Amino acid sequence: MSDKVAGKQVDVVVLGAGIVGVSAAFAARQRGLSVVLLDRREPSSETSYGNAGILSSGSIMPLNKPSLLSALPSYLTNRHAALRWDPAWAIRNIDWVARFLANTAPSRLKPRATALQGLIGASLKLHREWIVKADAAQRIRETGWLKAWRSDAIAAAREEQAFLADYGIESRLLDRQAISALEPNIVPVYKVGLLHTQTASVDSPGAVVKAYARMFAGAGGEIRQSDIKAIVPDGEGWRVGLADGAILARHVVVALGPWSPDLLRPLGYRVPMAFERGYHREFKPNPARSLQRPIHDAEGSFLMTPMEQGIRVTSGVELTARDAPSSFAQLDAVVPAARSVVEFGEAVGDPWRGARPTLPDSLPMIGPAPRHSGLWFAFGNQHIGLTTGPATGVAIAAMITGTQPPFDAAPFSPGRYL
Ligand SMILES: Cc1cc2nc3c(=O)[nH]c(=O)nc-3n(C[C@H](O)[C@H](O)[C@H](O)COP(=O)(O)OP(=O)(O)OC[C@H]3O[C@@H](n4cnc5c(N)ncnc54)[C@H](O)[C@@H]3O)c2cc1C
Repeated sequence: MSDKVAGKQVDVVVLGAGIVGVSAAFAARQRGLSVVLLDRREPSSETSYGNAGILSSGSIMPLNKPSLLSALPSYLTNRHAALRWDPAWAIRNIDWVARFLANTAPSRLKPRATALQGLIGASLKLHREWIVKADAAQRIRETGWLKAWRSDAIAAAREEQAFLADYGIESRLLDRQAISALEPNIVPVYKVGLLHTQTASVDSPGAVVKAYARMFAGAGGEIRQSDIKAIVPDGEGWRVGLADGAILARHVVVALGPWSPDLLRPLGYRVPMAFERGYHREFKPNPARSLQRPIHDAEGSFLMTPMEQGIRVTSGVELTARDAPSSFAQLDAVVPAARSVVEFGEAVGDPWRGARPTLPDSLPMIGPAPRHSGLWFAFGNQHIGLTTGPATGVAIAAMITGTQPPFDAAPFSPGRYL
């Protein structure tokens, strides 16, 4: 044993301090366990920092829904703002692509929507409780999320509203006038709107997750910054190899977001994860013409969210290797469209890139590793990880302590793929 190995074994080491890892660490600590939270960077410096900040009640229909098939021809030319893809990547990952598309079968929609509804419902409850506990309540806005169409898409909006209503999720149909009443500072370009009334948003996802991390530390948890190199079985527990030593733990929670597959491969787990990359750029707002809530331009395939630093414009999906060089074409194409809706000034800082970690059925993996005891998987939260992080973490802490997760976790079992 290296002299840098921590002398005593802790109960739980959580790998990754994004929203999922921070949540798992806090929930485990709340249950009285000794917990170390590890990340090579400060908490919430990656995907959990750069997202659109939406705590979405209505994101129960995964991207690979039945209508994706009819939209595919429009994506083939690789010029659509919603989806850019790298053909060489698609060929190398044809197995993932085939499995992802197989999940567009109509029979696969309801089970997945039901599963996500449980996860999202439990998570929103936790966010609303934790954000107060973490002294960050000023960052949450209960103003909903507006999806808006420039064309006369009333039928599409009605269909989405009916689908959500079947799951008890409220929304409100809006015409041009009602949209202007809600968002008086935007140019009235939208004919139809659907307001997700039970959705909230935050003005800085990075700051909120950092506040949750402080709440974990305040509850007696330990946060360590180090590069994690390996996870190795060690007697009854685990040894987590770090760039500067090692830690022994009874339980290890893998919450490394898009990096999760890397450390699991040596243990024989080939996680079928793809990376739906996305970009953001922030712009100086005009304080006299501010946005009240995030707006999703349905046909333009971008989002505009009012953030602490300015208006954050986020792009659609880029399917390629996680670490391939950035291509800002998709983001550059939507910024003028955003500018045609809301007035904003020059860019603040550089464009940001992140990777939404996605499994073929668009459900995260939440549960025990199939072939190792004391090893837990909590990753793959795709487009809605900020929303679903808290309940993902609480479910893992519940399983570790032998209690019931706050939602039906069976559909998220890692065993379905591993
Ligand atoms: C453009 C965009 C917009 C989005 N908008 C929304 C939204 O509005 N609402 C929503 O709910 N979700 C949204 N998402 C999705 C959401 O951001 C992610 O699902 C979520 O942040 C994933 O969290 P995580 O904790 O799993 O991963 P991460 O936040 O990426 O955390 C993983 C951590 O692991 C660490 N790590 C990795 N490897 C190592 C290693 N070897 N050693 C040490 N540390 C390591 C990293 O440093 C990182 O901190 C969006 C995503 C993108 C890209």
